[in-house]
Amino acid sequence: MNDYDYDVVIVGAGPIGGYLANKLAKKNISVLLLEEHAELGRPFQCAGLVNPKAMESVNLKNTVLTPIWGARIYSPEGTLVEIGQKNTIRTWSVCRKLFDEAVVNQSLKSGAELWLSSKPKNIEITEQKVNIIIDTPKGIKNVTTKLVCGADGAHSWVRRTLRFGRPKETMIGMQIEVTGYNGTEGKLDMYTGSDISPGFFAWAIPSGETTRIGVWSQTKYIGEKSCEDLLNELMINGKWSYRFKECKEVGRFVGSVPSGILKKTTARRAALFGDAAGICKPTTGGGIGPGFAHIDMIIDELSAKIKDNNLEIKNLAFIEKKLDKMRKSQNRARGLRNAFLSQSNDKELEEIFKVWAKPEVISMINEVGEIENPIPLGTKMLKEIPEFRKLAGKAIKSVLWS
Ligand SMILES: Cc1cc2nc3c(=O)[nH]c(=O)nc-3n(C[C@H](O)[C@H](O)[C@H](O)COP(=O)(O)OP(=O)(O)OC[C@H]3O[C@@H](n4cnc5c(N)ncnc54)[C@H](O)[C@@H]3O)c2cc1C
Repeated sequence: MNDYDYDVVIVGAGPIGGYLANKLAKKNISVLLLEEHAELGRPFQCAGLVNPKAMESVNLKNTVLTPIWGARIYSPEGTLVEIGQKNTIRTWSVCRKLFDEAVVNQSLKSGAELWLSSKPKNIEITEQKVNIIIDTPKGIKNVTTKLVCGADGAHSWVRRTLRFGRPKETMIGMQIEVTGYNGTEGKLDMYTGSDISPGFFAWAIPSGETTRIGVWSQTKYIGEKSCEDLLNELMINGKWSYRFKECKEVGRFVGSVPSGILKKTTARRAALFGDAAGICKPTTGGGIGPGFAHIDMIIDELSAKIKDNNLEIKNLAFIEKKLDKMRKSQNRARGLRNAFLSQSNDKELEEIFKVWAKPEVISMINEVGEIENPIPLGTKMLKEIPEFRKLAGKAIKSVLWS
């Protein structure tokens, strides 16, 4: 005998689970959201940047701490590339706790139900339905549903339990929140170099009264070092240490950034979303924008299939098809990232920065550059800037052919 029955059960009440729940509930689909923690939005592991399109989809400017319109990007030796125009907001730095809570609350207003401190213990998928055994503060509950959605983050239980495989690459990030950073209003700072963030970059992002200082990289680049070692290099030992002298730490977070959308994100009566599906951008690590975009792409068709209870694997193939475009675009972006950043040593990076710092290239970046879609700018640079022609060789396979 089952205790409850819902059209959809979403495991994970982060921003992606909340957004999906809202979209489904608005279509009169009954939704149960499960969150293993006792409160929403904690712990969070995020630099808190939400791109303009994603912000528009949830209309949560009240969660913004600082609008970001520009960036100061530094080469390993200190060559500065300064971009941005004050009248064009490129991204929003938000309070993730408020943002996550507000996204989930929107879904509750639309009719979704939320169980806190609750997580699935077992899942059984049959032709007709999904049975889930859930551990809740009120004891074990049995729930049936037509569809189970995994929006349970980078280490997704749903992904592991249903054997979906793993994302193509996983970056590890570490971030501390500080007061007293010597930055510039409305601009984020990015630092590069093999001693700070090999293959990637370190950041300092204004977030209201505080600044989020972080590094991200991959184990293949950092070897025996930890992200904490890299952060210490940036803040204590390195050439930029003077900027961090007055910093006082108020928070600390470590987390994974899964990037490279899974080959399959659907199975019979099951689908993965957000970090669980490996959807973070290979260039910025941003997962909220692409996670929302994925849901927007498929929501109408998915809702119709849920209402008709047409959830065999072949009926979910449309999701994979729609994701294919995003997969290809992420692969291109990864190719550009590798060519310009990840596969360049410090000497090569120095050369790249010298070209980026030229006024005509800065104009090109300001005109064509988009944090969320680096492909038009990257491809234009490879084609039009003679110094970058040799990089085109490195990038050609993934940029031009995928
Ligand atoms: C250092 C760092 C910086 C980042 N910076 C940015 C950034 O600036 N901008 C950006 O867009 N992205 C950023 N990201 C990525 C971003 O944090 C994620 O892409 C985003 O949070 C994904 O949302 P999600 O809902 O898929 O997963 P999550 O936010 O991880 O939410 C998953 C939810 O599921 C819950 N859960 C997990 N397992 C279970 C279970 N078994 N049962 C029930 N509940 C469960 C969790 O408690 C959590 O609430 C960053 C990541 C890191 C590590």
